[in-house]
Amino acid sequence: MRVTFLGTGTSQGVPPIGCTSPVCLSEDSKDKRLRASIWVEWKGLSIVVDAGPDFRYQLIRAGVKRLDALLFTHEHRDHTAGLDDIRPFNYLQSGLVDVYCSDRVLSAFKSQYDYIFSEHPYPGIPLINFNIIENGQFLVGDCWITAVEVMHYKLPVHAFVFGDFAYVTDANFISESQKELLRNKKVLVLNALRKENHISHFTLDEAVAMGKELAAEQVYFTHMSHQIGFHEEVNQSLPPNMALAYDGQVVDIPSQ
Ligand SMILES: [Zn+2]
Ligand SMILES: [Zn+2]
Repeated sequence: MRVTFLGTGTSQGVPPIGCTSPVCLSEDSKDKRLRASIWVEWKGLSIVVDAGPDFRYQLIRAGVKRLDALLFTHEHRDHTAGLDDIRPFNYLQSGLVDVYCSDRVLSAFKSQYDYIFSEHPYPGIPLINFNIIENGQFLVGDCWITAVEVMHYKLPVHAFVFGDFAYVTDANFISESQKELLRNKKVLVLNALRKENHISHFTLDEAVAMGKELAAEQVYFTHMSHQIGFHEEVNQSLPPNMALAYDGQVVDIPSQ
């Protein structure tokens, strides 16, 4: 399995427009972060998790040429604003794109993207086959993926488990029963917004503690704000099996 970090930034990206903080002025490319998303290549499938406002550029940058499934964690716009840009895959693949999301996220799409659901759609709109997922396992091609419920303040969000790999974004609470589904992975991704407390995201310390508790071999952090600090400096302060992810990072995970 190969995982590519398409984006590792928080909702406004890093830098946010007009920001002149030292991290935002950094010349290190690892301090530049598009909105959080990953590309998973697994058993011949090409799967993307979330499609935020940077979706088009992220997929071009990473060289994604096929999309077998687009999974959504939740309906916040930093994770959904790029949905219209699945249209090239309608042409490339001569068919509908398979989207997997909860029925609550589908309801949000009906207002965020009312034209996709129009009775008399305008030609050229995104053509999507919506697959409704609940907490638990679902099948994409021959691959079982597990949707795990994590809490983003009061909003349930789906984390996803792909075999030995788990991806958790936009969360600051995981129940004991759901932790069981995330334990002992080869690679675990957790959101870590910044060092100071936040109402709906893990801080860096909270994410490090969760990474230890879930006993992953390797932990990466994502969905970071410029307030987290410089990439290289923060990485040096972390336990040896943990690191901030960066945009474009590729992680190969041996199959079971
Ligand atoms: Zn987010
Ligand atoms: Zn969110």
